[in-house]
Amino acid sequence: MRFLPVFLDLQAGPVLLVGAGELARAKLRVLSAAGARVRWYATDGHHDISGLGPVEAARVERAAGDPLTAELDGVIAILCAGAGDVGVAMSVRARSVGLPVNVMDDLVHSTFIFPAIVDRGDVVVAIGTGGTSPVLARRVRERIEALLPARIGDLAGFVGRFRASIAARLPEMPLRRRFWERVVDGPIGALVLSGREQDAEAALNQIDDPAAFAAARKGGADGSVTLVGAGPGDPDLLTIKALRALQDADVVFYDELVSPEILDRIRRDAARVPVGRRVGQPGIGQQAINRLLIEAARQGQRVVRLKGGDGFVFGRGGEEIDALRDAGIACSVVPGITAGVGAAAQFEVPLTYRREALRITFLTAHKAEDAGNVDWSTLTDTRMTVVVYMGMTAAPSVRAGLLAAGRSPQTPVGVFSKVTRVDARSAVGTLDQLPELVATIDGGPAILIIGDVVAHSAPWRQRHPSQTISQLLETAQ
Ligand code: SAH
Repeated sequence: MRFLPVFLDLQAGPVLLVGAGELARAKLRVLSAAGARVRWYATDGHHDISGLGPVEAARVERAAGDPLTAELDGVIAILCAGAGDVGVAMSVRARSVGLPVNVMDDLVHSTFIFPAIVDRGDVVVAIGTGGTSPVLARRVRERIEALLPARIGDLAGFVGRFRASIAARLPEMPLRRRFWERVVDGPIGALVLSGREQDAEAALNQIDDPAAFAAARKGGADGSVTLVGAGPGDPDLLTIKALRALQDADVVFYDELVSPEILDRIRRDAARVPVGRRVGQPGIGQQAINRLLIEAARQGQRVVRLKGGDGFVFGRGGEEIDALRDAGIACSVVPGITAGVGAAAQFEVPLTYRREALRITFLTAHKAEDAGNVDWSTLTDTRMTVVVYMGMTAAPSVRAGLLAAGRSPQTPVGVFSKVTRVDARSAVGTLDQLPELVATIDGGPAILIIGDVVAHSAPWRQRHPSQTISQLLETAQ
């Protein structure tokens, strides 16, 4: 690390800007927006401040004369942008008097550089790459932007307003820090982040004994469970909310289906507990999982229950939420991309299609007896796409059921395994071939999609490159 990020107090004095053209104006905009007073030496003599608001414009001092002999008393930093050789000379002068200087795109002559910033009011994040790659810095910034709650700046402002009064009531530093941790991490912080600052203020004012509040067991009664859908495998398909929950968790109870790349996104210090069952092996059972979640929340922990796909699509999320509610545990649900939707996106299967597919049915046929429970007669509509979860071993029953219901043996079907993962596989064909297609897919969770829309999919088009869609569908009728 050559450059240490520090935060400059722009109230402390003017910033000297030397340069011309759009480069100088871009810096002028950044500085003015941050509230800086700017003394601008326009090296082409042209001070164009159009585009600045009246308040910002009033803070710009249009300086005349040679910046190399300019008065530097009180100046807090020097910036050169679009200044050519003057920038280099200015850098020499700045360093001779010990002033921080930045010459744009010139690391050799700069003693400080501009980070990429995430600006949320009082919360500001600076991102640097040592001047090597502004593009990379911007990518990092995008990721941090996504991670930070939109109202994090409001939360900083909220804490700031009560800081002095709490400091007076809680002079002891460690206790005070714990007090603010509980506020920021608990329901009061959550209220501010959801835009309910008045309620948050009321809750804070209700704390009669800040020392007792601070000294309470970690989290106290604040434990909660978030049911998070992890999506089908690709960690980039996690929602921003899901990622935040993983980063905030004290403990994560996860299913076997959740991919290692997603587990990698869990906060490093959080405990990870596998509770899923592998195919063919009994798991710890739903009751036991419910008990674990409740116990962990009662200990005041922030609990995440992480499930493959979406927790409410064949994920038994409903049962867990019922149990948590009955136990009086605060819970919330973050949706995930369900495997059927992930498969559709990856293999370009439009689940609905104008006129061809007007309905979708998601069903599960875990075992032959599940398949026996499906009322196949409701699935006769040729304009319905049928998505079958856990349907691999029951594939012969799925075929028999649909054929008995009158679906054509030529109906296009796709078997898609490990969707959105690097080792995803697909096999497409017709309904009468379903068990053979399933047999060509080795291992991993897989989903079946049945319906004319499969003829639009990328793998189908690869197998039948010369046929038009209408021809394909004709043969499938
Ligand atoms: N809640 C999950 C489904 C759990 S049931 C979701 O919304 O996706 C488990 C079944 O989901 C598997 O048997 C398989 O049919 C399907 N599945 C889950 N992940 C999958 C993946 N990455 N690729 C293909 N199918 C998947």
